[in-house]
Amino acid sequence: MTRKILVTSALPYANGAIHLGHLVEYIQTDIWVRFQKMRGHTCWYVCADDTHGTPVMLRAEKEGVTPEALIERVKSEHMRDFGGFLIGFDNYHSTHAPETREFCELFYQRLKAAGLIEARFIEQFYDPVKAMFLPDRFIKGECPKCGERDQYGDNCERCGAAYAPTELKNPYSAVSGAKPELRDSEHYFFRLSDPRCENFLRRYARQENGVLQPEAANKMREWLGAEDEHFLTDWDISRDAPYFGFEIPGAPGKFFYVWLDAPIGYMGSFQNLCARKSLDFDEFWRPDSNAELYHFIGKDILYFHALFWPAELIHAGFRAPTKIFAHGFLTVNGVKMSKARGTFITAESYLAQGLNPEWLRYYFAGKLSNTMEDIDLNLDDFIARVNADLIGKYVNIASRAAGFVVKRFGGRLLAADAALPALCAIREAAPGIAERYENREFAKAMREIMALADGANQYVDNVKPWELAKTPGREAELHAVCSNSLNLFYRLTVLLKPVLPALAARAEAFLRVAPLAWDDVETLLPAGHGIQTYAHLMTRIDPKQIAALVAANRESLAPVAPAAVNAGMAEENEARAAKAAVIGIDDFLKMDLRIARIVEAAHVEGAGKLVRLMLDIGEEKPRQVFAGIKSAYDPVALQGRLTVMVANLAPRKMKFGLSEGMVLAASGPDDAAGGIYLLAPDTGATPGMRVK
Ligand SMILES: [Zn+2]
Repeated sequence: MTRKILVTSALPYANGAIHLGHLVEYIQTDIWVRFQKMRGHTCWYVCADDTHGTPVMLRAEKEGVTPEALIERVKSEHMRDFGGFLIGFDNYHSTHAPETREFCELFYQRLKAAGLIEARFIEQFYDPVKAMFLPDRFIKGECPKCGERDQYGDNCERCGAAYAPTELKNPYSAVSGAKPELRDSEHYFFRLSDPRCENFLRRYARQENGVLQPEAANKMREWLGAEDEHFLTDWDISRDAPYFGFEIPGAPGKFFYVWLDAPIGYMGSFQNLCARKSLDFDEFWRPDSNAELYHFIGKDILYFHALFWPAELIHAGFRAPTKIFAHGFLTVNGVKMSKARGTFITAESYLAQGLNPEWLRYYFAGKLSNTMEDIDLNLDDFIARVNADLIGKYVNIASRAAGFVVKRFGGRLLAADAALPALCAIREAAPGIAERYENREFAKAMREIMALADGANQYVDNVKPWELAKTPGREAELHAVCSNSLNLFYRLTVLLKPVLPALAARAEAFLRVAPLAWDDVETLLPAGHGIQTYAHLMTRIDPKQIAALVAANRESLAPVAPAAVNAGMAEENEARAAKAAVIGIDDFLKMDLRIARIVEAAHVEGAGKLVRLMLDIGEEKPRQVFAGIKSAYDPVALQGRLTVMVANLAPRKMKFGLSEGMVLAASGPDDAAGGIYLLAPDTGATPGMRVK
């Protein structure tokens, strides 16, 4: 029976590069989709960039481009990276597209007509300098629980406490540094707490053959509570201008927020594909559809995909997902990916170092299960596993046999021995391995396939073709065992093809066979079949390549030595020469320039030109710097704003105390006459960022 399947991966945000952590999900989904296609099912895989929101708006502003230009560029980068890792989307779209807008409006109208949209006034932090309401992630302050500074508006990275942004002590806007004000604004809510939603979700969660993995289903039961408990809360689906997104019809200045437009982007992307391929959209999305719909997601967005999205779909007149597949996060060498360690590895840098994307696909496959457990990329194990399995066990089978066949037997095969135990073992194991793929137990599938490859290698080791080749009169035997070996390789290729599509394509060319389908594991290459001359299918990983990859991703966060701090633009500073000598980039890079927040500014008793600044550059304690800017700035006006400091000047003892750095300001030849202008970064920069 041919199934009709629609698959999505979560939409990456159009504000950053794809990294190896993202790739876990896309590789997992792609393997599953390729497997379904090899089985002959109709399977469509769609995705899109998630483009809307404040971060994209602010970043575009900072770069001096339109949001449309920014998302266009990021989309092409994302598509390049996904293509590089052989992620075979049938369509990669954007949420900033007419199809998605239409669906957003349709959802909104239908949910509103059903009485599931409610307008409500809420109090929210507002940045008076930037004239905008601030998302939680753009408000910072001191943790209300532990007092840690510079924590985001939703949770503390030090003690893990979760809170509302209004609970932060000394909050400030991460956009302008200004002290935010609480203001009222009207927002639209999706009434997830409505009994209709709750009752539907209870039925949905109880569905036979579960929508969710067991751990995720437990989470969902926790979120829903017992029958007499009502835990679900309404979801804010609007944001106020200025915002980059779709304006809500009939509500000027109000925009759909991410949870309304991003998942609808799945449908927008599919609609776009349907138009190109003349497919029937409704066949997949109407309430009584018998097509299957699967969302692959990270465990962090489970709440949203398991509760909000199905409730929204059902009440807007569509079907709910068949299943939601949540996965864990990626660690590298056992810990969170880290820029300082060089393990925050982007897709682009991996490919730019000349590393084979299928090494990573295979390694991830060898780690992936159908649970929400995190998976670890251990770089030493990565090298060892790929070299041992893919080169040592799989590719070797072909390389050892192919030479003899081409040189001695004109590239023609004999009929394989269909009863050969190693060959039978592969055919017999195939249904079980198919089940592993279907259930996303890729690690188990890889172990079983490698056990079959071990069996194939044992056969080759036993029959020793290299000895037969040296013994006169044993040509027929040599021809037979080489033909058997290549058939072993052929069957193993079928099993590995969902994981290694490019390698499989090279193997198909070498074996001169049509693109392999899953059922080909039942077949053998016929007698007289001709093969190509063997060319290398895959090279080994050289540990030097991994060292270079880590080095390329290690961010130069040259730690600032505690002693290496210093002297402000002190009053005794001499006027600098109008033009400095030419220097090389290395000289420039010796300077550690950092974005600093002025957390405190005060007059200095007895100093005519100095202001005492306390500067936060993301270190434990703020630095004290004396700056000669008193003629131009009132200290009160400086508090909270961002500037640039030289963080690695040697500290300098002054009459008034230690000066641990220097802030940067522009001035004419005569400070007093031309004025002094403190430098400020564009919006979006945060304390501690390096200026290069
Ligand atoms: Zn805390």
